[in-house]
Amino acid sequence: MTVIGVDDTDSRERGMCTTYLAARIAETLGDSGRDSEGHNSSSRNSGSQDSGSRDTTGRARRPVADRTPSVERLLLVRLNPAVEYKTRGNAALAIHTDADPETAFEIAREAVAETAETDDPRTNPGVVVAPGDPEVVPEEVADFARNAVREHLTVEDAEERIESAGYRHAGWKVGRGKIGALAAIGAWAGFGGRDGEWTYECISYRERDRWGTPREVDAESVFAAANDAYPVAWDTVDRETGELVCVPHTPGPILHGIRGDDPETVREVADAIESESVERRATFVTNQGTDAHLRDGDLREVEDGKSYRVSGAVATAPETRRGGHVFFDLESEDGDSDSNAELPCAAFEPTKRFRDRVRSLRPGDRITACGEVAQGTLKLEKFAVRDLNRTEFVTPNCPDCGRSMKSAGAGQGYRCRDCKTTAPGKVEREVARDLEIGWYEVPPEARRHIAKPLIRGGFDAPVHPEK
Ligand code: ATP
Repeated sequence: MTVIGVDDTDSRERGMCTTYLAARIAETLGDSGRDSEGHNSSSRNSGSQDSGSRDTTGRARRPVADRTPSVERLLLVRLNPAVEYKTRGNAALAIHTDADPETAFEIAREAVAETAETDDPRTNPGVVVAPGDPEVVPEEVADFARNAVREHLTVEDAEERIESAGYRHAGWKVGRGKIGALAAIGAWAGFGGRDGEWTYECISYRERDRWGTPREVDAESVFAAANDAYPVAWDTVDRETGELVCVPHTPGPILHGIRGDDPETVREVADAIESESVERRATFVTNQGTDAHLRDGDLREVEDGKSYRVSGAVATAPETRRGGHVFFDLESEDGDSDSNAELPCAAFEPTKRFRDRVRSLRPGDRITACGEVAQGTLKLEKFAVRDLNRTEFVTPNCPDCGRSMKSAGAGQGYRCRDCKTTAPGKVEREVARDLEIGWYEVPPEARRHIAKPLIRGGFDAPVHPEK
């Protein structure tokens, strides 16, 4: 086996996409062993290229020649979403193939040299090729992959590990893409191999001459297919806003990407969508929708550029500020007031109706908040209500006339001027709450690629999924 890692080939303005490049490399590997009649034996496994440029059906071709390299798996890993260099979703790609490492390296290097948008100053491609089974990479490569999802790493660190593992590598410009390329190589072992938590995305690509033009996708067919496959396929559409979440708005080659828990289901949904013609289609094994970026943390110790799960009590009433962003402070609660700290939390405008959930929080509620910390503020992706503050203290009403009592002076309680009744202080009253115990999340259209949709299950409290 050989593992090819590739990253940082695209540009926000010009439009390319490293997934597209990986799909093309996989196809070229198959073509490199094409027999004299033009057949190839690329096998179609759980994640692999589904079709060549002349076969847009997504059906596997019949294996013909044994010597043709096959692609066992295309891996799409989402790395630390807080990395500032990312073009969009901080994706890195690995191709698991039985091609020999030298051929694999040459093919990948040529493909990147030809296709990568290196004129963009932010695009710094990297290719790394590892001989051997992806399950058995050195521990420091698997470690590097795990760290790449949660920490900030350097090209120097990547290069040291690449050299000590003896991998082939190539970088363009500052070669930052080697970080993602090495992480993509280590990801399979780093996240549990066949026993790991993997999801799937079937990506359909546009004809080259259509890139940059409005996409033609029949919304009704998307909703019908999405509803048939829900919840195995998730984040395909947003049922509240009518948005086609699977269709990007960027200038790149992707027509639509269908995500879910099962490779067959995501392919079936892609097949059922009526649209402009599909140039090629590939199914990727991914860590999308897994929350792999989150670590359990103490809110007094969070650092910028990392993503956390932190628990605490709501300390201030949520406040909507200019631009529609909602803020509140979360307070640590270990009983020792000297070491207590407050962490500002924000639900930004693009999280739309999620902000109503956040606005429903009250001081005294106990929650677990999840998201990336940037500039000392936790950007909320989801939160769990652990305990609701269901009471408030209000000025008492007069037991005789029923009218609100007035203050009798500082520290002297309340009295009714007309009836002369008195009360020692404020009284407790039950408050109706819109929230329930359990998890709330941003809508599908605001979800980070790596964030786990509640509908996928496995949470430690009831869930209130956004569909
Ligand atoms: P693309 O489609 O090109 O992959 P993208 O949104 O995934 O677009 P990149 O263009 O890959 O973003 O840019 C991310 C850059 O950050 C890459 O060079 C990658 O190697 C690097 N990178 C990824 N994870 C980390 C990390 N944890 N620490 C430092 N750099 C990282």
